[in-house]
Amino acid sequence: MKIGIPREIKNNENRVGMTPTGVSELSKHGHEVYVQRSAGENSGFSDADYEAVGAKILPDIAAVYAEADMILKVKEPIPSEYSLVRENQVVFTYFHFSCDRALTEAMMKSKAVCIAYETVQLSDGSLPLLVPMSEVAGRMAVLNGAHYLQTTKGGNGKLICGVPGVLPARVLVLGGGTVGEAAARMAAGLGAEVTIADVCLPRLRRLGIDLPANVHTLYSTSYNIRQQLPVTDLVIGAVLVPGDKAPKLITRDMLKLMKPGTVLADVAIDQGGCFETSHPTSHSEPVYDVDGIIHYCVANIPGAVPNTSTSALTNATLRYAIALADKGWQQACREDEALLKGVNIVNGCITYKAVADVFGLDC
Ligand code: NAD
Repeated sequence: MKIGIPREIKNNENRVGMTPTGVSELSKHGHEVYVQRSAGENSGFSDADYEAVGAKILPDIAAVYAEADMILKVKEPIPSEYSLVRENQVVFTYFHFSCDRALTEAMMKSKAVCIAYETVQLSDGSLPLLVPMSEVAGRMAVLNGAHYLQTTKGGNGKLICGVPGVLPARVLVLGGGTVGEAAARMAAGLGAEVTIADVCLPRLRRLGIDLPANVHTLYSTSYNIRQQLPVTDLVIGAVLVPGDKAPKLITRDMLKLMKPGTVLADVAIDQGGCFETSHPTSHSEPVYDVDGIIHYCVANIPGAVPNTSTSALTNATLRYAIALADKGWQQACREDEALLKGVNIVNGCITYKAVADVFGLDC
């Protein structure tokens, strides 16, 4: 199969659809891979790296879409790409159709086969192509939170790890899923005193066994969170209620319970945020202050570390990309129910119920 990897053109997106490692595997399976010139540059992968594993470099995005039977990407096509997507072309990327009617209609019109990373789902309900980005975001939230604890950045001046004779910072992690576990592990590894809260008791039991001794578990209620806020230096928001907006676990009136210079890092901002005072921020202006409390609410945290994020994404997508290329999308999806759940639009029809329901459309 001919596989195309265009350069991402969405604002501030530095990742790329596949690393040279992934391309090398696709080449070994006999596929021809076409990479747009400098597509991997911002992730630290040169054209020469791709050529060395068998890829052909094409000069522009139109040439990649024109050549390929399957496009491997990171973000959804943006309006300038809509007309490049062709009938029967497989596009395998993050789409998030439910948030974007124009994109949905454009992909229906294209008659392409749109397979969305975010809806590929294993039988236990987990989303294997979202997990790697959550693993990155949880770790990064702690590193950035620690950075903004510096007084020169508006924080309360606590060094997250403490020093001999001085206690470390206290970190409260709200939500004990993938982001929360990664954040708790990172904070604990840096030496902080960590509390992780969730509403799922079996999950808390598992975290209590798996995480180091400087992580304590707490059942998540408004009362328990209020008790923690006066003694917390950094709060990580990592809750998710599938298919719904994040619950507001810290309201504006609760900010006054915290010490000035406490940092709130709201990773759940892409689902509306779990602090009432959160609004999305960008890597160029990541923080703002409300009542003396520093808010870090970057909506695409993994974008700041594209080298690691692209590699983590490739590790997760590669087996599906190989199956799609080796067998064709129909056979690959017949053989793998997880991949079948990723199919959102085929030949102008929406095939994923939640997306059809949002827009009242199917064909
Ligand atoms: P997950 O489903 O693995 O975990 C969510 C956890 O929240 C679950 O354990 C659930 O029980 C818990 N929860 C639900 N309600 C709660 C409550 N009231 N109190 C405490 N815990 C509660 O999800 P995840 O992969 O960890 O993702 C968390 C959020 O981070 C999602 O909104 C995701 O989209 C977002 N995210 C953001 C970025 C970014 O760049 N900002 C990157 C990756 C993920």
